[in-house]
Amino acid sequence: MEQGCIFCQIVRGEAPASIVYEDDTVIAFLDAVPITPGHVLVIPRHHAASLAALDPDDGRHVFTVAQRMTAVLRRSGIHCDAVNLLLNDGVEAGQRVFHIHMHVIPRWANDNARMRRDPDELPAARETLEAIAAQIRAAVET
Ligand code: AMP
Ligand code: ZN
Repeated sequence: MEQGCIFCQIVRGEAPASIVYEDDTVIAFLDAVPITPGHVLVIPRHHAASLAALDPDDGRHVFTVAQRMTAVLRRSGIHCDAVNLLLNDGVEAGQRVFHIHMHVIPRWANDNARMRRDPDELPAARETLEAIAAQIRAAVET
């Protein structure tokens, strides 16, 4: 656990998150500033700032859960015809939160998704995120 790391705070239950899946190794929750509705982040519970610092077993499980989430999103009823998996490793690659994470981003034709957001973009309302998370959690269980 790293002091001041927002994702470690989510792991500890000290910061709000709309969680869609969790197990002993990873947590998956909705991105607060989604590229498209249902944009999920999969993170290891153990803090690792970069891919170099990531335990390879944790990395394998992050990928496994991200892969599972692509199927979950497609059957969840939210708009998801295709998916981008994205991992930003390093500032120049666009990493902003230094607790490594895999983005799972629902996509569809002409969705106008912009992979780079403005730094001052506002977070989605928590009720909106919670409604989407409930829909995704239901699909995890099926
Ligand atoms: P990256 O640029 O790959 O480091 O992505 C960081 C992502 O974390 C961005 O898409 C942010 O919108 C998202 N994010 C930052 N803080 C939070 C938070 N407290 N809860 C959910 N998502 C967050
Ligand atoms: Zn952390």
